[in-house]
Amino acid sequence: MHAAPHIRLHRLLLLAPPGAGKGTQAKRLSSQFGLQHISSGELLRQEVAAGTEIGNLAKDDLARGDLVPDEVILDMVLSRVCAAARSGRGYILDGFPRTVSQAEALHQELGSEPEVYLEVAIHLSVSREELRRRLLARAHREGRADDTRSTIEHRLEVFDGLTEPLLAFYERQGLLVTVNGEQSEDQVTAALLDVLGARPARV
Ligand code: AMP
Repeated sequence: MHAAPHIRLHRLLLLAPPGAGKGTQAKRLSSQFGLQHISSGELLRQEVAAGTEIGNLAKDDLARGDLVPDEVILDMVLSRVCAAARSGRGYILDGFPRTVSQAEALHQELGSEPEVYLEVAIHLSVSREELRRRLLARAHREGRADDTRSTIEHRLEVFDGLTEPLLAFYERQGLLVTVNGEQSEDQVTAALLDVLGARPARV
């Protein structure tokens, strides 16, 4: 019997605009390799649904497609990311960090510990046209409140203004790798496995 393949890199960030497939790919990789999947968007939607203080602070921003303030996000996510990082299990960050100041905060917390800090920041590159198509399809499928036509446009602008500069940030740290996210889901997974240094398990 063949065991699951191994990967060489276990600490990754998926960095991409809405609709690029971060969540889908993060779920696949985390379940295949036992990595902890941390999605700031999912965590926020849970806080909103539970009516917590964070949820109440975040819900209008979520509905408009604006970013939730850095302090709120850092409060909610940073300790969780640090705990996951130090657990040694490996982790996938999906949707966090999303601003340079969030990335700096993460680097400040973990950057001095090379054995727990990110090993790779993967940019999933997808054309605007394809992103719009996928987000509208998701709206139809899942009915997410922020997948409406005008909110989608706004979220893409927010990505360009506030998140895109992270590409240069991680490039400077020597961590950035770009993967063509416009292929089929299976092809993207295969490309990601390649970046992560997957090799078949010995039998
Ligand atoms: P996502 O599920 O990653 O598309 O995130 C959905 C929404 O949650 C975003 O449009 C933002 O309003 C909010 N959000 C998620 N992650 C962050 C973050 N790291 N910083 C600020 N806002 C965020």
